Amino acid sequence: MAMSKDFKDYGRRKKKVCIMCTGKDVNYKDVDTLRKYINDRGKIVPRRVTGTCARHQRHIAREIKRARAIGLLPYTK
Ligand SMILES: [Zn+2]
Repeated sequence: MAMSKDFKDYGRRKKKVCIMCTGKDVNYKDVDTLRKYINDRGKIVPRRVTGTCARHQRHIAREIKRARAIGLLPYTK
């Protein structure tokens, strides 16, 4: 049901590469970077949108949760 034809258009976009695979190390203090991985409602953006690889998506998700726990990022807006 969430799968619509728009999904295909995402795939046509410029191929994004995982920022962490390019050598950047993201941790919970990198609020500016982590903000790119949450949407305006404070939810973690799926990796098919961000282009992050599976391994680093897990890492980023963990850092986001850590940042939320200490109040650097919102749980919801
Ligand atoms: Zn990666």
